Amino acid sequence: MNCRHCGNELALEMVNLGCSPASNAYLRDKDAFKNEITYSLRVLVCEQCWLVQTDDQVEAEALFTDEYAYFSSVSASWLKHAKSYTEVVTQKLGLNKNSLVVEVASNDGYLLQNFVKNGIPNLGVEPTAAVARAAKARGINVIEEFFDTRLANVIAMDYGKADLIIANNVLAHVPDINSFVQGFKELLSEAGTVTLEFPSLLNIITQNQFDTIYHEHYSYLNLCVVEEILSKAGLKVYDVEELSTHGGSLRVWASHQESSHHVAPSVNEVKQKEIDAKLFEPSTYLAFSEKVTQICEEFKAFLVDAKLAGKTVVGYGAAAKGNTLLNTAGVKNNLISAVFDSAPSKQNQYLPGSHIPILPPDAIESYKPDYVVIFPWNIKDEICQYLATNSRVNWKYCIAIPNLEIFDG
Ligand SMILES: [Zn+2]
Repeated sequence: MNCRHCGNELALEMVNLGCSPASNAYLRDKDAFKNEITYSLRVLVCEQCWLVQTDDQVEAEALFTDEYAYFSSVSASWLKHAKSYTEVVTQKLGLNKNSLVVEVASNDGYLLQNFVKNGIPNLGVEPTAAVARAAKARGINVIEEFFDTRLANVIAMDYGKADLIIANNVLAHVPDINSFVQGFKELLSEAGTVTLEFPSLLNIITQNQFDTIYHEHYSYLNLCVVEEILSKAGLKVYDVEELSTHGGSLRVWASHQESSHHVAPSVNEVKQKEIDAKLFEPSTYLAFSEKVTQICEEFKAFLVDAKLAGKTVVGYGAAAKGNTLLNTAGVKNNLISAVFDSAPSKQNQYLPGSHIPILPPDAIESYKPDYVVIFPWNIKDEICQYLATNSRVNWKYCIAIPNLEIFDG
């Protein structure tokens, strides 16, 4: 396989997570267990541009179906994050009723609804019908297609060029990253800004976040390679912020190459951190793979010991992260009896691969759990708080990443 960005042949393996179903392929009933399709999940590293990428056979169309169940608005902390971003960017770029904001992967309108409220013209691009419908119900105009250079030109023709293009947690989901980024160049107004948010490879490596690896993620990004990809498309990174979202993300601010923006010191600072963390040395990736094996073995040993001791273990959060951990560690529904999730779209279905039933959170007490494994460790405080408010907590919590940890709520 060749690099999605520079075409170099990929020889360095970061990790091989074996075969598993697509992480959002929830199963409606037990009959669906036997027809489950699995795909290999292997991550390779380009030693020329250092784009980390999945060696993937899953077609994007197979993953982003109407059943793709993630609605951004279910997370209170993510809504808050979106609202404060809107305030900052509106002020910083001086957006008003004559501006145009385009969000790529606008999901259910969790972010654009803030621009609607403020009277700033906006447009969403979202190929997933179920979430696009939810955005439209919020009064947002949505184009239901995949974003690429072609669509960027269509939008520029029909709506004019964008003063702000937002792309949060989507760059990693794109198979053809070059065409996607070239689309920003085509659609961006002369003085416009693109902001991109993506989980930082630096955190994935240093915090052992291998559970953020799944088929829907084609690449794992560092600032150096993102800067290079943008630069090839005629765009320049002029600022970067380090965020705590998704276990550590970067928010990159970019403009046309010839814009008057000065490059902020943070750009070189973050790049230096990546160099210091040895992200551009093969040995880092080999060590990561060994750490993944160790985490999976420890997690499974904990579950087996709990089972032998007659304890009940359940999970919380039927997120993609949990599926990667469970399927890599080879954990099935004999070790974790149920997983609870507040999203109605997932309830009363089964997790892909592990076949653990998904139930509404109010059923958790009836299971009398001794341990609750929190899969979305990035929002563990929010989850503990939610459960403390809504149920009588007399169990211990467990997270597996960055290392196995048992704690009281
Ligand atoms: Zn490359």
